Amino acid sequence: MVPSWVILVVSLTYVGTLFGIAWWGDRRAEQGRSLVRNPLVYTLSIAVYCTSWTFYGAVGSAASNGPEFLTIYVGPTLMFLAWWFILRKIVRITRAHRITSIADFIASRYGKSTQLSVLVTLVATAGTMPYIALQLKAVAQSFTILAGPDAAAALNAPLPQVIADTAFWVALAMALFGILFGTRHIDASEHHEGVVTAVAFESVVKLLAFLAVGVFVTFGMYDGFGDLFERARTAGIPAETFTLGMPDGPGRWVSMTLLSMCAILCLPRQFQITFVETVDERHLSTAAWLFPLYLLVISLFVVPIAVSGLMVLPSGVDADSFVLTVPLSQGQEGLALMAFVGGLSAATGMVIVATIALSTMVSNDLVMPALLRIRWLRLTERGDLTGLLLFIRRAAIVAVLFLGYVYYRATGQSGALAAIGLTSFAAAAQFAPAMLGGLFWKGATRSGAVTGLALGFAAWGYTMLLPSMARSGYLSIDVVLHGLGGIGWLRPEALLGMDTLDPLSHALFWSWLLNIGAFVGVSLFGRQSPMERVQATVFVDVFKRSETAAPQVWRRSATVKDLYALIQQFLGRATAHRAFRAYEKEHGVSLPPGREADAELLAMTERLLAGSIGGASARVMVASVAKGEMVSLDEVLKILEETSQVIEYSQRLEQKSTELEQTTAELREANRRLKELDRLKDEFLSTISHELRTPLTSIRSFSEILVDTPNLEAEQASRFLGIIVRESERLTRLIDQLLDLARLQAGHGDWIMEPVDLDKTLEDAAAITAGLFADKQARLILRLPPHPHPVFADRDRLMQVFVNLLSNAVKYVPEDGTGRVMVSALPYGPTWMVTISDNGLGIAREDRERVFDRFVQVPRPDGAPPGGTGLGLPISRQIVEHFGGRIWVEDAPTGGAMVCVTLPVTRHAATPPRSEAL
Ligand code: ADP
Repeated sequence: MVPSWVILVVSLTYVGTLFGIAWWGDRRAEQGRSLVRNPLVYTLSIAVYCTSWTFYGAVGSAASNGPEFLTIYVGPTLMFLAWWFILRKIVRITRAHRITSIADFIASRYGKSTQLSVLVTLVATAGTMPYIALQLKAVAQSFTILAGPDAAAALNAPLPQVIADTAFWVALAMALFGILFGTRHIDASEHHEGVVTAVAFESVVKLLAFLAVGVFVTFGMYDGFGDLFERARTAGIPAETFTLGMPDGPGRWVSMTLLSMCAILCLPRQFQITFVETVDERHLSTAAWLFPLYLLVISLFVVPIAVSGLMVLPSGVDADSFVLTVPLSQGQEGLALMAFVGGLSAATGMVIVATIALSTMVSNDLVMPALLRIRWLRLTERGDLTGLLLFIRRAAIVAVLFLGYVYYRATGQSGALAAIGLTSFAAAAQFAPAMLGGLFWKGATRSGAVTGLALGFAAWGYTMLLPSMARSGYLSIDVVLHGLGGIGWLRPEALLGMDTLDPLSHALFWSWLLNIGAFVGVSLFGRQSPMERVQATVFVDVFKRSETAAPQVWRRSATVKDLYALIQQFLGRATAHRAFRAYEKEHGVSLPPGREADAELLAMTERLLAGSIGGASARVMVASVAKGEMVSLDEVLKILEETSQVIEYSQRLEQKSTELEQTTAELREANRRLKELDRLKDEFLSTISHELRTPLTSIRSFSEILVDTPNLEAEQASRFLGIIVRESERLTRLIDQLLDLARLQAGHGDWIMEPVDLDKTLEDAAAITAGLFADKQARLILRLPPHPHPVFADRDRLMQVFVNLLSNAVKYVPEDGTGRVMVSALPYGPTWMVTISDNGLGIAREDRERVFDRFVQVPRPDGAPPGGTGLGLPISRQIVEHFGGRIWVEDAPTGGAMVCVTLPVTRHAATPPRSEAL
């Protein structure tokens, strides 16, 4: 026996040393000379996996089940050897998005769902309780063994019954440690460098202590492994204890290996250490081999200690205490004390990290979101919430340890360490489907994860927790033996009559079956919200995008001031100041308070906040100041892709139907046009024959008179001949113009399109028609700009138009010498406009469009024959439109008609000439 005061002094000294190391670690971190920037420290801190379960329980398990305990090491070893595929991805995501806990991780993956983070936190807390109880039990037990039951009782005697318990004091001390180092400050990245350093140190201590006992047993008590096993054989120790084999078949081995593979990822404390606390992704490559090596070394002497314990100690001694009792039996009290310290460090390491991890979850994912939702607390309006956050965390640590203690008191006397530990593992394993599925399967949905986790957790409670409660006497054992309410197929350890599996495999089978089944099933048939899609892409494609700044599509707005205030509220002024200065420096921008924050600044704010209040709450907070939603580019593309598929389809339909409609309309129009052309043709033929007949008739009748009347007066005869000549001239002109119009309308004819000098052409046209003006004693006034102006046209055709218009104008002006025709050219938008106005009869409003039809001649009021052909204006319009211009009639300011012609300046897609059949 070791005097209890010695144990107390040693323990306190040890814990004091831990405090010192943690303090030193934090200080170094503050000075920027971080101790944890070292793969060795990182690996050793991961060894927090080895708790007092490993330290004491592995030997206990080996003593009864042989090398089965190895599975607990094989799982993590496999997981770390395959680090490239899973661990690396989780580390990358956790660092990029400042994930603070496994609850945060899973909730973030599924659209930053508060519901999910609450659920995960509850499961994690429930699952960790047995594990913490296990540590308390181990420490208390080891103390009692070392000091002797009487001494332990004496130490507790003066205290009231409830707290007269070593485990209580252990719990209290651990709560203190957790508070002191886990919640010294609210750090955005949730790094606890001091704690990590201390935990790494503890991993060294427990390893050395265990090795010391192992070496003493193997080489001090015996002559090495061979000798030890040889003697064991002769002492009649069952060979299964120290030879590899699976007496119960591979089932339990497989489930335990799977379980421990999941545990190394999903236990809240492992998640905290491996993913949250890591400062450098590259450390993982060292841990990948060093951590398995650590596990190998620490398991080296498990079987020798177990076997020696079975040999030297009377049967009935708890195998879970062999690490202490074997040295004690050899009078090695110093060694036993050292082993006690090793066990103490294994237990404290686990408890401290687990409580920090849980308190982070409880405050970030449970309490904070709840408080933020309670409106009348007006938390969002409070200036500084860091104090409140710290208080919540501290309270959470105390609560977690208290619950662990309660669990210990409730079930402490029953069950081996390993069994309690496996209960915890199985709870944590319920996170695996949502976590791993979420890493590799974009289609996994929030509803799937929630349903799977809830069902898995329920199954765990029924098949594992319930029997352990029953065995502790809290429930009737009948439930386990005969099923709930005596219904046989409801037996918790043989659901639906499945009694071929061991209880652990059985529990794992049912919980995973329900969990994975619901997760996959609900995901396959469910839909994702846009936010879920964003997060799915962000997680699954984490390696496809740059470290932090995923391309974001800007859809929210907030001012720099708002965001600053938000960070200040949760992280304090100093942090806010630092973060914004760093951002300004990094991006080379300045951030005046009133400026609109860009997407990246919003993302930074959310990340920073996520570090202290969790992703889900951070999202709520940022959303409270920013309007709108942020969606990654990939996500938008995906959403667009889907929507556009639908749109495209309906568009195609629409297009098809409009196409059809169009074709029908075109057909109808073509038909109408054909009919119209047919009618026009008939009309034209009748008009033309009429038009041609008129001059022909007069030619013929006058010719007949000349022929029939031989002795016609010479004067008479020459008048008739004159008529005949004029009429045949008219006939020729008519036929010429008809042919010309037909050519134009058919689109034939050689057009020499080129820049033509407008002024010159007008002057030429004036010269040609000068005779007509002289005949009528009319005046032609040209108002042309001083400089030459090119228009894009065919020169001869343009001339034809002007000559026609001028001769029309002069035809209708008064004959008494007051006749005036005015020609002017002016720029008119991108074209030139030529107007030819006269002081003649003018054209009535209703005739202004009609005169451009063939053969239309407005009868003169005096009944005089109109002369002309009625084809001049149609031909002119045809030509002008071919140039791309327009021609129309208005009132002239001088009283008569004014014909306006526009002509483009440059090459212009000519409106296609209306081709009408002739
Ligand atoms: P025509 O060569 O017979 O004059 P147009 O096609 O050139 O044929 O003109 C058609 C009709 O438009 C003319 O018969 C005439 O009634 C009317 N018209 C054309 N120009 C003028 C004008 N400047 N003043 C009055 N009426 C005009």
